[in-house]
Amino acid sequence: MSYNLKELNIHNSKLITLRKMNKQELQVVALKNGTVIDHIPTDKLFTVVNLLGLQNSDSNITIGNNFESKKLGKKGIIKVADRFFSDEEISRLSVVAPNVKLNIIRNYEVVEKKEVIMPDVVKGIIKCGNPKCITNNEPMTTIFHVVDKTSGLLKCHYCEKEQNKETLKLQ
Ligand SMILES: [Zn+2]
Repeated sequence: MSYNLKELNIHNSKLITLRKMNKQELQVVALKNGTVIDHIPTDKLFTVVNLLGLQNSDSNITIGNNFESKKLGKKGIIKVADRFFSDEEISRLSVVAPNVKLNIIRNYEVVEKKEVIMPDVVKGIIKCGNPKCITNNEPMTTIFHVVDKTSGLLKCHYCEKEQNKETLKLQ
């Protein structure tokens, strides 16, 4: 087993220090109470950290990346002690990691499994791709209507520009 400390840059330029862990070790770190966020695409791991506001959290957080996954090839996992996310918080992940699974742990046991559900409206997460859109020129919250939940097609409430999962930028 080898461990190293890695500093990774998150969107908002805050740095967090992580200990890279291998699979065996991560499994050993049992969670008494909290949430395991599993099946995160490896390139979206830190976006998920950011969307859930974990970089500002006082919770004990274990982050692991590049685990073998049958479905994804590689995946990331985040374990958050003593934190239970609301459906609204979980739905924020739908635009970047719709296939994420959450396991709710109480007293070392999985008591509930949650999936990410694409909401009808996404507020304040995505940046509009239209430079002339009012949301890019005024300090305001973006609002997108979800046109197609399967493909992840979204439409800006203000200028009606459509965006898809592949091209969207986060606010
Ligand atoms: Zn717009």
